[in-house]
Amino acid sequence: MIEAATQGCLSKMAATLPGRQEEQVVYHLRAGEHRIALNERLGEPLNLRWTGAIACTHCGRATKKSFAQGHCYPCFKRLAQCDTCIMKPETCHYFQGTCREPEWGERHCFQPHIVYLANSSGLKVGITRKTQMPTRWLDQGAIQALPILEVDTRQQSGFVEMLFKEHVGDRTNWRAMLKGEVTELDLKTERDRLLAATANGLGQLRSEFGADAIRELDASSSDFHYPVASFPSKIVSHNFDKKPEVSGILQGIKGQYLMLDTGVINLRKFTGYEVSVA
Ligand SMILES: [Zn+2]
Repeated sequence: MIEAATQGCLSKMAATLPGRQEEQVVYHLRAGEHRIALNERLGEPLNLRWTGAIACTHCGRATKKSFAQGHCYPCFKRLAQCDTCIMKPETCHYFQGTCREPEWGERHCFQPHIVYLANSSGLKVGITRKTQMPTRWLDQGAIQALPILEVDTRQQSGFVEMLFKEHVGDRTNWRAMLKGEVTELDLKTERDRLLAATANGLGQLRSEFGADAIRELDASSSDFHYPVASFPSKIVSHNFDKKPEVSGILQGIKGQYLMLDTGVINLRKFTGYEVSVA
C-alpha cells in the first residue's frame, strides 16, 4: 500500500516546552493541516520536496515569491505586521495617524511587552509581546533566557532596547547557534550590570511615560535543551529556491532550523511554501 503523501504549505514549526525543564523542546513540523512529530525522527531520513507553489500565509493567494516570511506582495505592502516599525518598534508611527491598520496595532502593539536577555550565540537583548514567551526564545534557539523589564507598549520596548543596545548586541549569530558553540552565562549578573549601565536612560523614559510604565521584573532564568544528536562542524544551507528537494538524516532541531547530515534549513524562511514530506 502506498501512503498518501503528506503535503501542505509550511508554517513555522511548533516548538513547545517539555514537561520538565531538563527535557528537550518538542517540535512539530506543520504542513497545511498536518503536524509531524519530529523529535522521534531524529536519526532517521527526512525528505522535503517543494512543489513549486507558495501560498500567502495571510490571504492564501498564490504568489510567485514570498515576502516577509510568507506574504504575497499586496499583503506585504498593506499589513501592519509587515511594516518596518515591527522590527524597529521605536519607529512606531501610530500617533502620527499613519499606522497601516490601527486596530491591529491596538491589539498587538498596545499590549504589555517584555525586554529580555537571551543566550542564543552569546548574550543578546530582545523584546517580545508578553504572550509570545517562551515561543520567541525557542524560535531563536536560545539556551537561556531571562525577562528583565515589562513595559506597556511595543514602542516603549523599542526605546528600552535602544538603551541596552549601547551595551549588548541584539542579533543571533545563527552559525554559532547551530554549531552549539554557546557558553552558559549568568544572566542575572548580566541583567544587574546592564540595568546599572542604563539607569539614567531608563529614568528619562520613566519621566516621559510615567513612573510605572517600565517595570523591573524579578523573574528566574529559563534553560532550554534542544533535540540535537550531533551539531554540524560546518554549516551548509539548503534553499528550496535553488534546489526543491531537501533530504538527509535528521540530526537535530534548534530554533526554526532542521539540521540534516546534508545541511541545515531554516523552515521559517520558507513559510507558505507547499511541500510534501516523507
Ligand atoms: Zn496575501
